[in-house]
Amino acid sequence: MLDLANARADQARHEQRDAAAIAAAIPIPIRLPARLDGQPLTHLSASSYSKWLACPEAWRRHYILGERSAPSGAMFLGSRVDDTLCLYYQQLIDTGETLTPTQLQDHYRDRWSAQIAYEHDRHGISWNDALPEQAAFNLGLRALETALNRIVPHLGHPLAVQRKLELTLAPALEWTVQCFPDLETTSSEGEPVQRVVDFKVKDVLISAEQARSDIQASIYLAARWLEGQPATEFLFAQIAKPGPRRQQIGHTIVPTARSTGQLRGTLARLALAASQINACHHTYGPDRPWGFADPTGWRCSPRYCPHWTTCPGGRGL
Ligand code: SF4
Repeated sequence: MLDLANARADQARHEQRDAAAIAAAIPIPIRLPARLDGQPLTHLSASSYSKWLACPEAWRRHYILGERSAPSGAMFLGSRVDDTLCLYYQQLIDTGETLTPTQLQDHYRDRWSAQIAYEHDRHGISWNDALPEQAAFNLGLRALETALNRIVPHLGHPLAVQRKLELTLAPALEWTVQCFPDLETTSSEGEPVQRVVDFKVKDVLISAEQARSDIQASIYLAARWLEGQPATEFLFAQIAKPGPRRQQIGHTIVPTARSTGQLRGTLARLALAASQINACHHTYGPDRPWGFADPTGWRCSPRYCPHWTTCPGGRGL
């Protein structure tokens, strides 16, 4: 056991050197820019990297200026289903006991009410006609039932729930990339297969092809690789909402993996993003736009961008 631990530590040190070498090839900043309230930005994440790629101006407004908006009803629903499935696995890890469907439904209901109150004290929740609150609540109950019956039996033995995984590109940096995987598992029979699992409740499911280049999977697998405990695969454990595309609730598990070259490429992407963020801050400062999204993209629209009405790249000047 000790040998295994030493081997992993050696491997982790080796991987860290890899990361440092990648970082050294790109002028990576020691620290990220400060927020407008003076607090330092101490980490990036998969979602912040995605926002950066989609629109640097949206990134500046969100992370530097702190412009926040109400979560959509779909986001709120997905988070409550996540919460409940994570509780299911945490209980299993802590006590070896499986919560009953009724216990999970009670937790879901309590958590839903508590988070509604929390969000109402902040920015509210942006429900829409296609998914009003009561319909979303009921859909969450059905999503949980589907997950328990159709998805959970295929995920393997749970090792950790929402563990904080922190990826650093070089020892001296004052920032990291943080990940909180919903679930980490290992197969319970045969050759051990280490997995990272992300639960999703979606209208449009992530396909196998999209999964192959999905940045969340890349970053989470890179973080596992760097800590010396590489995961074999990342699973998108998805519940498909009923709607115009399908009559009934559906489900699918989409696995994806990354080669060592792809993991190294992910680190290079993160290093370059940090470098570009600092370059924008240096060139334009915190108060001027940093670069607008492609105006033909779906994100740059009043429906999907919370900054659209005040953004020169959105509604205009
Ligand atoms: S309106 Fe378009 S350009 Fe402006 S922040 Fe939103 S996505 Fe970016």
